[in-house]
Amino acid sequence: INMSAFDGAPEWKKKAEKKTLSYGIISNKSIKEQRESLPIYRLKKELLEAVSKNQILVVVGETGSGKTTQMVQYLVELGLTKNGGMVGCTQPRRVAAISVAKRVSEEYGCALGEEVGYSIRFDDMTSPSTKIKFQTDGMLMREYLADNDLRRYAAIMLDEAHERTIHTDVLFGLLKDLCKRRPDLKIIVTSATLDAGKFSEYFFNCPIFTIPGRTFPVEILYVKEPESDYLEAAIITVMQIHLDQPAGDILVFLTGQEEIDACCETLFTRMEALGDLAPELIILPVYSALPSEMQSRIFEPAPTGARKCVVATNIAEASLTIDGIYYVVDPGFSKQKVFNPKLGMDSLVVTPISQASAKQRAGRAGRTASGKCFRLYTEQAFKTEMLPTNIPEIQRTNLGNVVLQLKAMGINDLIGFDFMDPPPVATLIGALESLFALGALDEEGLLTRLGRKMAEFPLEPNLSKMLILSVDLGCSDEILTITAMLSVENPFYRPRDKQAQADMRKAKFHQAEGDHLTLLTVYKAWEAAKFSNPWCFENFVQARSMRRAQDVRKQLVTIMDRYRLLLLSAGKNYKLIGKAITAGFFTNAAKKDPQEGYRTLVDQNPVYIHPSSALFQKNPEYVIYHELVLTTKEYMRNVMVIDAKWLVELAPSFYKSADPNKMTRAKKKEKIEPLHDRFNPKDAWRLSRRKG
Ligand code: ADP
Ligand code: MG
Repeated sequence: INMSAFDGAPEWKKKAEKKTLSYGIISNKSIKEQRESLPIYRLKKELLEAVSKNQILVVVGETGSGKTTQMVQYLVELGLTKNGGMVGCTQPRRVAAISVAKRVSEEYGCALGEEVGYSIRFDDMTSPSTKIKFQTDGMLMREYLADNDLRRYAAIMLDEAHERTIHTDVLFGLLKDLCKRRPDLKIIVTSATLDAGKFSEYFFNCPIFTIPGRTFPVEILYVKEPESDYLEAAIITVMQIHLDQPAGDILVFLTGQEEIDACCETLFTRMEALGDLAPELIILPVYSALPSEMQSRIFEPAPTGARKCVVATNIAEASLTIDGIYYVVDPGFSKQKVFNPKLGMDSLVVTPISQASAKQRAGRAGRTASGKCFRLYTEQAFKTEMLPTNIPEIQRTNLGNVVLQLKAMGINDLIGFDFMDPPPVATLIGALESLFALGALDEEGLLTRLGRKMAEFPLEPNLSKMLILSVDLGCSDEILTITAMLSVENPFYRPRDKQAQADMRKAKFHQAEGDHLTLLTVYKAWEAAKFSNPWCFENFVQARSMRRAQDVRKQLVTIMDRYRLLLLSAGKNYKLIGKAITAGFFTNAAKKDPQEGYRTLVDQNPVYIHPSSALFQKNPEYVIYHELVLTTKEYMRNVMVIDAKWLVELAPSFYKSADPNKMTRAKKKEKIEPLHDRFNPKDAWRLSRRKG
């Protein structure tokens, strides 16, 4: 089935899909020849010797040298898996884990999920015969929670370590400790860049194995003046390359799905306008929400006479290697998760990349022959405005989930944990405080029974708290659906040419209680329509998001069953559902401001109901929001009406009803106050100390 017809894919996407489909896979080299032509192949013997002699090894090599796809297979050939242990390989990104697993299963000659498989959140493609397992670094961390000796593994490769994701950083510390208990376990840390020295130093000065690159010079071109609109500048640059430059494919780096779709659409229209005047340009978007059939098309070579243009997120920087790229267009930005201490949560922010990233991006053009990199920023900006390297994620994001998991592993002294680069103490304390407020930690900072249960769910702490409490409240069936719907991409489809029609359809689902119940209503209506695709199409709902929600829901039910948490329906008693949501998200409460908009209860920050909300212009007194998005204003997205009393009832350690005698007149109007003094840093510091 061509799913895009149901998801209402725009015209350019349908055409782009058809075009590349008809070419099929053109490959003039056999898989064996391809493998043997990789730089790593010539060093196989030396590499395996180094692995045999050392418990830990850092491996450095250019992207595309064969680290990910080959090394895991070499380790199997070495006999490491003959006693039943697996070779595990972590990837910072889900898409990369799936994509490399697919490729390696083809090379290995098995179906995906047999000897070669992958495991990512809510999607496990492994079996008892699996020997090579690709997984997100977050998944391996969860496995460590279940077995802190990782006995199922004979070797672990921490791939793309230079990305320094929060989970890779925590795994560094955990594996460094584990290798003492498991002298037979092989650990390989790979990096595409120069951090190797630092990695080696951290891992007991282990040897560094370098795979000499096979790279060609890349000419770097800068713009003379800063560009105000990098998207438009990128589109113009692609068109110029296509019309003026010799053959060779183009790779464009953008920050996310919306930008990539907009860029592809514009490129497609401009190419159509040129008609037969220009050679064919095959436009291929790459981002994580894209279905995998479409993603594998980026690896197919363009037919003679045509040129391929891949428009990708940061994933093409190092995790995926696309052969045949001669031209790179680099606007100099990426989306980064950044912790906002004021709001106590992460948001994705478009941020300038580092010099190291810029070099890595340029390098993509020099893999097959000498290439060119068009930087859409000035040389001055490169030198003075970009940081030399990326800041590790652990130093800039919310630590709630990681702290909860470390506590569940029995690691209580977080200040003393062997981080390669420790997170700021204030961020650690913030995480401890919010876990305490949720009831996951006690006054001593030790894990409570609730906290232990929460750690079992692959969800952010406030979602797992909401889910567990919904069992007590008797509405877990509904909360499960809401959790699943909240964890997928926006399920509403709003095509540019049919916005009014789409909005009318959506309004039919709107509930007076707000967006959480609207999401529940959509799911139930889809369920009543027997999970049908045409139903989605008629109702401007994204079938892909719905199926993913269904999948997430199933996975969560499995975990609920395992811990004997019952599935209970509240029927039409929406109050219970509202209370369960309050139990997880009480920190995200806001009160109507008499002037305009809302103010958050925690810090009086001005916020507004998002125009897409079912509560837009309804303006109830108190609301809880799922997240904040910053555009022109700070908007609350997915908003629910609450009764202020629920806050005191469900988060007594966080809110109290204000004492009318002690209040100023202004204060008297607001009857609910956050208990700020409880969390003064001196007390919180105590939370991090081990009891006794
Ligand atoms: P590294 O990890 O060193 O960056 P990889 O092992 O990922 O390198 O890739 C080695 C080579 O394997 C790439 O240059 C490319 O030719 C090929 N390759 C990797 N993934 C795929 C894929 N999904 N489809 C086709 N070829 C691939
Ligand atoms: Mg790799």
